[in-house]
Amino acid sequence: DTTHGAILYLEDIVVSFDGFKAINNLNLDISVGELRCIIGPNGAGKTTMMDVITGKTRPTSGTAFFGQTMDLTRMSEVDIAHAGIGRKFQRPTVFEQHSVFENLELAMKMDKRVKTTLFARLNSEQKDKIAAILQLIRLDEQEQRQAGLLSHGQKQWLEIGMLLIQEPQLILLDEPVAGMSDAETARTAELLNELRGKHSIMVVEHDMGFVTEIAQQGKVTVLHEGSVLAEGTMAQVQADDRVIEVYLGR
Ligand code: ADP
Repeated sequence: DTTHGAILYLEDIVVSFDGFKAINNLNLDISVGELRCIIGPNGAGKTTMMDVITGKTRPTSGTAFFGQTMDLTRMSEVDIAHAGIGRKFQRPTVFEQHSVFENLELAMKMDKRVKTTLFARLNSEQKDKIAAILQLIRLDEQEQRQAGLLSHGQKQWLEIGMLLIQEPQLILLDEPVAGMSDAETARTAELLNELRGKHSIMVVEHDMGFVTEIAQQGKVTVLHEGSVLAEGTMAQVQADDRVIEVYLGR
């Protein structure tokens, strides 16, 4: 057993596009309950890495395990999602015509593990679960509001709630605070800090202030040219000469 209880284990991943290595010997593992931040300049390979984890892109070589037994490089995108890897893309994709509550209800009913139909009435346990998520995502006072009328930040929180309701074992968030106001960004940092330890989460983000807020107790991985340049606490990676060189071009 080489995975040491990791929820995600990437070893020597290479992704070549016509000979160009977008991912070049990437090694990375995420522990159960960890909140890991991934940073790196444009073109570092962050999106390609998430595409490999979610089965959207097949690696040219290397190993990707989810839990102890699931080889992600042999699974379809749909099977990986059903196995419990949830991804939130940068742009929010909520059901604009439906209320906040209905969005969470729909997400719950679309969950393959839940034996229900679209028009079935929610039981009290399901209603309680939605209420708890509404509080967590700071939308408990907006539950009857049409989702299309929410602010950009509120839509992002709603989508995080729609992911959480399906209880994925690993959550991938792609630039969750892009386009948010400072106040919304601060609340998103609070929200993610509340999720720490309860969910395994990988956050790709450019906003360094935000990363500093959520990385206080966790690890940051810096990607560069398709592999890990540095990994450690925010203080450690910020002081790393190679990281400074990549970001400042010195
Ligand atoms: P990031 O998300 O860190 O900005 P990407 O994973 O999007 O980086 O891209 C990594 C590198 O791979 C970039 O140089 C990009 O141009 C290249 N790349 C990504 N996808 C493709 C593709 N489908 N075909 C060719 N090159 C690609």
